[in-house]
Amino acid sequence: MADRYLNLTATAPGRFLTRRLGLPRPVPLRRWSPEHPRLDGELLLLTTGGSRHTDALVELLTAQGLPPATTSGRPAAVVLDATGAARVADLTEVHTALHPVVRSVADNGRVVVLGSPPDPDDHHQAAAQQALEGFVRSLGKELGRGRTANLVRVPGPTGSASSTLRFLLSPKSAYVTGQLIETGPDAAVRDPDDWERPLAGRTALVTGAARGIGEAVADVLVRDGARVVLLDVPSAQQDLVRVADRLGGTALPLDITADDAGDRIVAALPTDGGLDVLVHNAGITRDRTLANMERERWNAVLDVNLGAVLSTTDTLLRTGVLRPGGRIVATSSIAGIAGNAGQTNYAASKAGIIGLTRSLAPRALAEHGVTMNAVAPGFIETRMTASVPLLIREAGRRMNSLSQGGLPIDVAETAAWLATGGMNAQVIRTCGQSLLGA
Ligand code: NAD
Repeated sequence: MADRYLNLTATAPGRFLTRRLGLPRPVPLRRWSPEHPRLDGELLLLTTGGSRHTDALVELLTAQGLPPATTSGRPAAVVLDATGAARVADLTEVHTALHPVVRSVADNGRVVVLGSPPDPDDHHQAAAQQALEGFVRSLGKELGRGRTANLVRVPGPTGSASSTLRFLLSPKSAYVTGQLIETGPDAAVRDPDDWERPLAGRTALVTGAARGIGEAVADVLVRDGARVVLLDVPSAQQDLVRVADRLGGTALPLDITADDAGDRIVAALPTDGGLDVLVHNAGITRDRTLANMERERWNAVLDVNLGAVLSTTDTLLRTGVLRPGGRIVATSSIAGIAGNAGQTNYAASKAGIIGLTRSLAPRALAEHGVTMNAVAPGFIETRMTASVPLLIREAGRRMNSLSQGGLPIDVAETAAWLATGGMNAQVIRTCGQSLLGA
């Protein structure tokens, strides 16, 4: 469903009108494409006193093809190393560093603040580091013009942040803003040999891949080098086969809630039998207020969105099909964080995904060498949201810092980053910093 308002505000008369009337002014987001793989412009690296990682950071960014400039007229990205901020007085330096440059950050630019985990034994350091979160979340709301702000907490050496910095300092992260991302632990870090094709030689399974977000995830994983097995319900077989043929993958028509789903997945895998990436994307809604909701609607949503995720994950881990170095990406929703009227079943299932992710991730890493993270999309333009009533749909689109809905590709880029990234147990919102559950 086209966002006509966004198209209007991209025209000169539209810009004039929205400015005069004080309406939201979304800027078309510049997303990754083969023709536009990088941000347009220089990267400015700023530090505060006691920054822990500056030299290592310069080295890391340079190695990744993102060499920082010392001065820049209109930076495409600003990275502030505030890892050493340990006292309230240190926060003055955050202002000193960013105040003069924030206005000049280019449209669709990035502000990334690096912090350290708050120290439970040092309440002054913890206060200063937590302050950075409030700062970044506010900056995300102020920036406008398609610009984003995120906070990356780096527990140890900067190496754990490499995949995250790559993602945030690229057009792939266009719809991720106002977020806190904790990198590491070290055991979760596994940098690819080739950053252009980080999933080369890897096998990925995507559920719900016949259309919408799942199809976009499959596209991006293949772009990143993976071979894909694509699963969707038998009634969607025609679309599923079309997607699989287009991507050179395998179609697996299967209801994920089937008792033998785990075994059928194993049987469908390529001959080496292993799996490196598992993206749980299949999901349904059956909306009604609780007072009007029959048990079937409740159970259907809980079964597909949560029960099947638990049982297939358990099977694929227990059997060792998910190999060491593997990545599980589950799909939550901001409805699972904020709640939503008419979606008690859906919100319960999506909150359950967060509980599952946070609980299982440390054990999956320790026992199987597999990480688990979740993506929590906000309002994404798909068939699911096209069926939302007009006024609620418009509110969903505008009530975020970027004043527009996301696209399936935005969730797919986040999932692909989590499928390579050096983090564990994270829930990453891809929601343009939606006001819901913020
Ligand atoms: P969609 O309805 O367009 O696609 C979902 C796919 O899952 C469909 O192809 C469907 O056939 C498949 N599916 C449903 N039940 C299945 C089952 N039992 N077994 C196998 N496949 C099954 O939805 P979408 O908008 O692309 O959403 C994808 C995921 O993202 C879902 O988990 C959804 O809850 C989540 N999400 C979407 C939004 C949004 O704004 N669209 C927001 C937050 C979260």
